[in-house]
Amino acid sequence: MKNRLIALLLCVVLVPRGFSQNLPDLGDSASADLSPLAEQKIGAQIMRDIRWRDPAYLRDAEVEDYLNRTGERLVAASAGAGMSFEFFGVSDGSLNAFAMPGGKIGVHTGLILAAQSESELAGVLAHEVSHVTQRHIARLVGKQSQTGMVMLASLLVAVLAAKSSAQASQAAIMAGQAAGISSQLAYSRDFEHEADRIGLQTLSTAGYDVRGMAAFFERLQRNGRLYENNAPAYLRTHPLTGERISEMENRVMQMPYRQVPDSLDFQLVRAKLRVGERPSRELLDELELAVAQGKPSPVAARYGLVRAYLALKRLDDAQAALAQLKMEVRRYQVVSPMLAGLEADLHLARRDFPAAVRVMAEARGRFPQSRRLLYGLVSARIEAGQAGDALELAKAETLRTPADAYLWELRARAEAALGKRLPQHYSLGEVYAIQGNYAAAVEQLTLAQAARDGDFFEQSAVDSRLREVKVLLLEQVKERRESSR
Ligand SMILES: [Zn+2]
Repeated sequence: MKNRLIALLLCVVLVPRGFSQNLPDLGDSASADLSPLAEQKIGAQIMRDIRWRDPAYLRDAEVEDYLNRTGERLVAASAGAGMSFEFFGVSDGSLNAFAMPGGKIGVHTGLILAAQSESELAGVLAHEVSHVTQRHIARLVGKQSQTGMVMLASLLVAVLAAKSSAQASQAAIMAGQAAGISSQLAYSRDFEHEADRIGLQTLSTAGYDVRGMAAFFERLQRNGRLYENNAPAYLRTHPLTGERISEMENRVMQMPYRQVPDSLDFQLVRAKLRVGERPSRELLDELELAVAQGKPSPVAARYGLVRAYLALKRLDDAQAALAQLKMEVRRYQVVSPMLAGLEADLHLARRDFPAAVRVMAEARGRFPQSRRLLYGLVSARIEAGQAGDALELAKAETLRTPADAYLWELRARAEAALGKRLPQHYSLGEVYAIQGNYAAAVEQLTLAQAARDGDFFEQSAVDSRLREVKVLLLEQVKERRESSR
């Protein structure tokens, strides 16, 4: 526990420094607001730091798929339709969600578990999406000078991303004072009212139950009183008042009543997060009881039970529970990519790779957007001795999403399995370049150059990529030298 706290403190204190060192040129500092382009650049940079360096980033493509599907449904119903957004999970039991520059929205697992309905979770996301579409972050940092902007943006991130502990955000606040910045870091009351109003509209247009938003904030406020100085992280960055809640309730009363059932995926994501990596005896008892009684949701309860058996390596029990689950799925005629993911995980635990390939290949036909099934399929094909098919799929997909470092990593694994040295080092070079580690990327591309097992076109692609990455490396070294002066 203590070690974890220290790690969090380090993380919060280090993020702003590393972040401002690598900060891209913000361009026109004369304009009042942070420009959309600068916002995108900063957002991409922070996201890279979180994704590759923050241990709290939730490495679960299934949960990320779900958050993005839900988030995109809200974005499509908002003024930000067409803007690029990215939703991700943060492994943290506290109630928090935060928006960062460039439409990057983080959600703590604690918040997903505390939401009593999917509309409540969607309500918080809609509020965050509105902070982005109304450009609140840009307006918050916009009044500062170029330097102030850099400092403020990085501190804003530190505070927004601050984890549950009061000390962690205390450290960020102290860093802020040391930098001599007096601007308030939390959103102003006006911004909060605007995000509530527009968020509620978005929630309604997207087809969720609008009562969810008010209900969740009310519960948050009720709980917040118990914490006193240690209020939930969410309340620190989104000051909540009785006035805001009554305003929300008044608006909700004027909107049409709509009962919206939770999606199966919402229930499955919660079941998966609850089980985690090491389910307790009590949780297992509870799941077994829920399955026996067939409630609250028979499919979700059984899904949780299979996950729990899998985590405990009780594979025969998992197999039996999965057979039951498949019967329920047929009876209720429900579909979810997560059901195929679960079946594939059981095959993988038994090291039956061809069966895992069959399940995921079939499911990908029905859920082509699922990153989890894509990653799982490439990886299982390599394990099943089908590296050629794995490479073909990974190649096609890296063309479609060239900024996906994880996919490049899988592609490198397929190439390594096939003994293709030049392509393998080229792909690893892309992994490092996407992570912002240009020195390591240069190293890999140099190895690719020396491999000499490619044709003329592959060789020249390596040469030109190496030239590009060397330029990026020089720029990075120069920026770091300047900011340390
Ligand atoms: Zn807010």
